Amino acid sequence: MPKFSISSINKLNTCHPDLQRIFNDVIKIRDCTVICGARTQEEQQKAFAGGFSKIDGINKKSMHQISDERPLSLAVDVLPYPIKWDDKKGHEDFARAVKVTAEQLGIDIVWGGDWKSFSDRPHWELKV
Ligand SMILES: [Zn+2]
Repeated sequence: MPKFSISSINKLNTCHPDLQRIFNDVIKIRDCTVICGARTQEEQQKAFAGGFSKIDGINKKSMHQISDERPLSLAVDVLPYPIKWDDKKGHEDFARAVKVTAEQLGIDIVWGGDWKSFSDRPHWELKV
């Protein structure tokens, strides 16, 4: 049975308990890596400056972004392991497994890979 690395666990622990529940189940059936959990405002600004995010963290806040009012991330970036950034088919296959797991747990989740304007396949966020 696959298991998360310490790094993945630490990142997942910065996320909302519902995201933790989903991916703690997913890991039992699919090996995967947590790339990003919570971001501070400063980290979001860096991600924006580096072109990794379309959200600047000030005018618009990311679902990854934490603050005093929101101490846990409502989004998490996860890819199947080993990570292949361009493996669209592999990502879609993994996404199906995540969606089934979320549905079984009764948790509404949105996949960035379903977005039309800016497809973000590692990205998952809770429906709020
Ligand atoms: Zn993301």
